[in-house]
Amino acid sequence: MNNVILFGPPGSGKGTQAVKLAEAFGLVHISTGDLFRHEMKNNTPLGQKAKDYMEKGQLVPDEVTIGMLNNKVEAHPEAKGFIFDGFPRTVAQAEALDQMLAQKGQKINALIALDVPDEEIVNRILLRGKTSGRPDDNDESIIRNRIEVYKSQTQPVYDYYDDQCRAHTVLGLGSIDEIFGRLNTLFEEVLA
Ligand code: ADP
Repeated sequence: MNNVILFGPPGSGKGTQAVKLAEAFGLVHISTGDLFRHEMKNNTPLGQKAKDYMEKGQLVPDEVTIGMLNNKVEAHPEAKGFIFDGFPRTVAQAEALDQMLAQKGQKINALIALDVPDEEIVNRILLRGKTSGRPDDNDESIIRNRIEVYKSQTQPVYDYYDDQCRAHTVLGLGSIDEIFGRLNTLFEEVLA
């Protein structure tokens, strides 16, 4: 199996690129943000738990997120591998992911981070907010909070994989196709 984490700040283009990469490499794409939004739309107990956190730009608690992620992985026994998008977002989530994969005799091949400056992120998210209908995309103070949460809680996940020499960074500026080209080259290097 090949498992890759697509990493980066909110609005860095992970979702857009993950869809294209999953298609190109025959992997299953899992976006925890999309999963939460789906649960919220259907007003499930899980969606109700996530709603307040998401609308404030905070992280949903680890136990909720990890449980949902495990269920999603278990639902795809046929998968040749996964692209994780928006997960792990804390070191505790990274440890839980490694543990879950180890139980299956699997591991993370690589974490690939998209590097995008803060100001570009704020502009992109505000633009996305015009069509996404996401309350967390429409308020600049919530967007800035998401960036702060990323720096304090999520950035350490990069170091966690970097310490194991499995972290890579790609420039997330340019056209969607240019960025896809950079990611594609790196995927060919890190996939078995
Ligand atoms: P973006 O990366 O653009 O912020 P996402 O769709 O990945 O958008 O995430 C939206 C929100 O969903 C986050 O701000 C957070 O509240 C919640 N969320 C998504 N993934 C996680 C996670 N792994 N852990 C905790 N909360 C999460």
